[in-house]
Amino acid sequence: MQRVYAFNEGTAQMKDILGGKGANLAEMTRLGLPVPKGFTISAKACLEFLNHGEVLLDELKAEIDQYIQQLEQDTGKKFDGAENLLLVSVRSGAKISMPGMMDTILNVGLNDHTVETLAQETQDYRFAYDCYRRLLQMYGNVVFGMDGSKFERILDQHKKAAHARYDSDLTADQLKAVIADYKELYLKEIDQPFPQNVTDQIYEAVKAVFRSWNNDRAKYYRKLNEIPNDMGTAVNIQEMVFGNRGESSGTGVLFTRNPATGEHKLFGEYLVNAQGEDVVAGIRTPSSIQKLAEDFPEIYTLLNELVYKLEHHYKDMQDIEFTIEEGQLYILQTRNGKRTAKSAFKVAVDLVKEGVITKEEALMRIEPSAVNQWLHPTFDSESLAQAELISNHGLPASPGSGTGQVVFTAKVAKEWAEAGKKVILVRQETSPEDIEGMNLAQAIVTSHGGMTSHAAVVARGMGKSCVVGVDDLEISEENKTVIYPGGELHEGDLISVDGSSGKLYRGEIKQSFTSTDESYATIMEWAEEVSELKVRMNAETLPDIQTGLAFGAVGIGLTRTEHMFFKAERLKEFRSFILSQKEEERQAALDRIQAYQEEDFEKIFRALDGFPANIRLLDPPLHEFLPAKDQDIELVAGQQGISAQELKSRIHNLKEVNPMLGHRGCRLGMTFPNLYLMQARAIMTSAIKLVQEGLEVSPEIMIPLVSTQKELAILKEKIVAELDQMIQEAGVELAYTVGTMIEIPRACFIADDLAQIGQFFSFGTNDLTQMTYGFSRDDAGKFINQYIENGVLETDPFQTIDLAGVGELVRIAVEKGRQANPNLKIGVCGELGGDPKSIMFFNQVGLDYVSCSPFRVPIAKIAAAQATIRKQEK
Ligand code: PEP
Ligand code: MG
Repeated sequence: MQRVYAFNEGTAQMKDILGGKGANLAEMTRLGLPVPKGFTISAKACLEFLNHGEVLLDELKAEIDQYIQQLEQDTGKKFDGAENLLLVSVRSGAKISMPGMMDTILNVGLNDHTVETLAQETQDYRFAYDCYRRLLQMYGNVVFGMDGSKFERILDQHKKAAHARYDSDLTADQLKAVIADYKELYLKEIDQPFPQNVTDQIYEAVKAVFRSWNNDRAKYYRKLNEIPNDMGTAVNIQEMVFGNRGESSGTGVLFTRNPATGEHKLFGEYLVNAQGEDVVAGIRTPSSIQKLAEDFPEIYTLLNELVYKLEHHYKDMQDIEFTIEEGQLYILQTRNGKRTAKSAFKVAVDLVKEGVITKEEALMRIEPSAVNQWLHPTFDSESLAQAELISNHGLPASPGSGTGQVVFTAKVAKEWAEAGKKVILVRQETSPEDIEGMNLAQAIVTSHGGMTSHAAVVARGMGKSCVVGVDDLEISEENKTVIYPGGELHEGDLISVDGSSGKLYRGEIKQSFTSTDESYATIMEWAEEVSELKVRMNAETLPDIQTGLAFGAVGIGLTRTEHMFFKAERLKEFRSFILSQKEEERQAALDRIQAYQEEDFEKIFRALDGFPANIRLLDPPLHEFLPAKDQDIELVAGQQGISAQELKSRIHNLKEVNPMLGHRGCRLGMTFPNLYLMQARAIMTSAIKLVQEGLEVSPEIMIPLVSTQKELAILKEKIVAELDQMIQEAGVELAYTVGTMIEIPRACFIADDLAQIGQFFSFGTNDLTQMTYGFSRDDAGKFINQYIENGVLETDPFQTIDLAGVGELVRIAVEKGRQANPNLKIGVCGELGGDPKSIMFFNQVGLDYVSCSPFRVPIAKIAAAQATIRKQEK
């Protein structure tokens, strides 16, 4: 196995072996750019090292020696030489860039002798000793793990004594004294001197960089960015060029376009007479890159040419490091630049306009989750870094950030919010009664529940920041306290909630917001143009529908009608339907509810203006509509004109051991057909009204939780008989469809039977996942995090589709359904409908649309476009 590659042996495509930095150095070498010569030790050699007791194999050492010799020949310089001294940098570089997470050592090859060679050759003693003390410092820190601040302290003492402001103000003799103290520090801290053998320096530096793959910050960064742990890092060994050789030298970093705004103008900084990390370390204030035009006009022109060449070659905005050594320009690194969402959209659109990339390439460049930055306020990153963490155990249920005072009930949330306070609703879990308080809160936190729990689903619908399942919070709604591992919170305390990371912080954190612009609109337009999959929204309220439409949803994929039953006056009527023993009373209650429902559906149809509206008939178990606490029971009993005792006994009768598997979904329609018929009539009454006004409507009536063909057949027949008669009596032309949700594994296996009856399918992947795994969607929060940490599960199946199980069921159902009914329209309305990876799969199996919360519509549209492009590429 070849473990080492010279820069002129590689290409940009070899990132797996050479890492990102190494592959780009090879590519730039191939393109003839001024890159200092060098070679790359492969990431495979890193894995070999880490997996075999962290010893450097003799084969690898031999290869390194051979490439060092080659480098000596190519540069005409000598490592450890008495003249023409070769020094090298040893830098990490993984396949996926992890800026600043792993280690780098510069000036390797200096020792007590070669430092004199360097001094004589450059006729600059100050420079030579400065290089040596930097090596001692970096090497001690990276190879031996010595505390960097101890070196800094020594340097500061010497600067103070010499009245020097900057490092560069120290004289050669003063630097010599610093070096002597650094050497003392080695003896004191690690009981051995700084190694004088330069080959050992290389070997040890390589080992240290390999090991830095597994340092804590690198591991954390990988976890945060979902970078696999089994890639390892390559190591680049490169001839040193010096930006600190006096006033005709310097070093800098630049972006080919502005990484914050996307503006097409060089963006960056440089420092005269400085080395490597000085620019980023903030020791001196660097000058803006535009000043280079005044200081070094020829270099500025050349740099512009090279930068243009690199951007066109890589077809993307580049982040470039350069060094000027005595008037000679070198490029040390190029990579695709990290950028904000605003910049990402503008750069992508501009590159298309400039003819550099196609629309499809531009769409593939957009990170779907970056869309969140546009739609939700996020915490200012500097303030965030200083904030005190309360917990990082939560699930990031709904993105965005919120800051406010802790309250424990929806009632208090409402009172305080109406009094002008910003509140965070903190509860063990939420229930439908909490809706109003949730809506008025800045963010919602629960200690129980998973990604499809009530709080998560509702908050996403509202576009409100939400963190659920924070299992290390002990919330006492009674005592109004939260106990967490590091302390305690009381009602009124300020906290901050990051719904994008799932973390909670103490105190208030500054927020920032980006508003959408022209580039955003252009990208969204292109996304719609290329996508096979349509994107609908899950919504029932007018504000939600308007939000979804503004984001480009082309209809409703799920209206959860139960959400309409929770307003006080309707709840009262619905409770009287549930509780009354007499048929006429029940029917009277239903009639009153029908009037409310007609208003609801009329609003929906008007807002949609002809786009399809998928309306689901009532789904949850009935006891969810009844009070739970004693004081509420008293109140409701009074309203309903029965005794508290009687109400309690009714509630007791309705209680179920497993309500999610109990009397819910179409089973309600089977036992209370009038309930479903009332809803169907309400839909049709408002639809007919609109058609009579000359407007377009497209109702889709959806029957939930079907597990047998008969359920669907019986309910559909009743509904169709009723509605066809209504249409006939009204004398209008009105097309509507009746279909079913696919939420039960059995429904997938009998999809052909169901497709003979239903005109559409919509996958309810929340319930389908729950029933496929047997994981309760409301309780899985208790163990799912641990499962993911231990590697039992790769991801949360409620967030990203489980291809092997749930995905397979979806595939079977689509195949069987379409075989039996080629015109079957198929969509998905579970939470996975807004998840980019799941959308990729839904596109592959040929669904017609995905449906998600209004605030996820933009992400879904980007993901749908990318899914189509990927599929076509294949
Ligand atoms: C589902 O089960 O995926 C679904 C959309 O329905 P609900 O979340 O309302 O159960
Ligand atoms: Mg469901």
